[in-house]
Amino acid sequence: ERMVSGESIPEEELIERSIRPQKLADYIGQEQVKDNLSIFIEAAKQRREPLDHVLLYGPPGLGKTTLSMIIASEMGVNIRTTSGPAIERPGDLAAILTALEPGDVLFIDEIHRLNRHVEEVLYPAMEDFCLDIVLGKGDTAHSVRIDLPPFTLIGATTRTGYLSAPLRDRFGVISRLEFYTTEELSLIIKRTAQILKTEIDERAAYEIARRSRGTPRIANRLLRRIRDFAQVTNDGKIDCFLTQESLSRLQVDDRGLDHIDHQLLKAIIEKFNGGPVGLDTIAATIGEERHTIEDVYEPYLLQIGFIQRTPRGRMVTEAVYNHFNLKGPYNK
Ligand code: ADP
Repeated sequence: ERMVSGESIPEEELIERSIRPQKLADYIGQEQVKDNLSIFIEAAKQRREPLDHVLLYGPPGLGKTTLSMIIASEMGVNIRTTSGPAIERPGDLAAILTALEPGDVLFIDEIHRLNRHVEEVLYPAMEDFCLDIVLGKGDTAHSVRIDLPPFTLIGATTRTGYLSAPLRDRFGVISRLEFYTTEELSLIIKRTAQILKTEIDERAAYEIARRSRGTPRIANRLLRRIRDFAQVTNDGKIDCFLTQESLSRLQVDDRGLDHIDHQLLKAIIEKFNGGPVGLDTIAATIGEERHTIEDVYEPYLLQIGFIQRTPRGRMVTEAVYNHFNLKGPYNK
């Protein structure tokens, strides 16, 4: 990594680094995305060209940053990482772009949050590897063109719908990351446990996987917390019983839902009779940002069929009433 910073790295961050897979072979799941990318990477390498720009989208924690780092390392180039909100002015982006070396990967997380002025600088940079800079003001204003080294932009976003069409159109590869299966998450958990030198049995790994909302970041986080419980109460060994005890202490329910999911689902049931109810109304009722609900909480609830989107708003399904042991409109 080229970015050197003097900031102290908190323990979590250090662990985070050590458990992040470094090679495509260690990146579990997302088979279709991986298969395609490995072909594109191979082809670009054969032509001695940078890889085409890549857009990765999907809910947080599914491995977009990790995959970008792997792409750079498979291409044998450096990666420079930044994020949409961090690039405030066109000049900030120009500084980043002119510092790249030929073939480098520029990773922009939350790319949908770039402001319009910055985005406009990005278009010619992506398309023709150049910058058009306007110097001076009024009558004396003139623009100069600066050539950039060829580079690969990898953008990450929670949903492509947030991206402007001109920006989206400039990506040659657009890949959607899916929620992981329990089996895949179980492999990820066992791999992480090995790196952390923690003993875990098969059933425990499966139990954590099942309750991780299809998301590796959550799986790894739960594992680390359960490891704390194991260390203090169980000689460090993680078994299924300890896992269940720990998860209930962590207020993670049988389907992997936490108190905010509960709040959200119960608000729809108790205050809006099961829905349909608009997202803004739900957000106001439970005091969360609309975007947080849309990006973080809702995708998994939709995936497991707990929530339905209708033209008139969100509705909970029969499964939710069953989950909470409630009598509902479905089984009166
Ligand atoms: P995103 O950028 O989509 O929010 P990250 O790339 O930061 O997600 O991934 C979150 C964590 O999950 C990483 O620290 C990594 O260790 C783990 N992870 C993500 N995807 C995978 C995978 N396919 N295989 C193994 N671990 C993964």
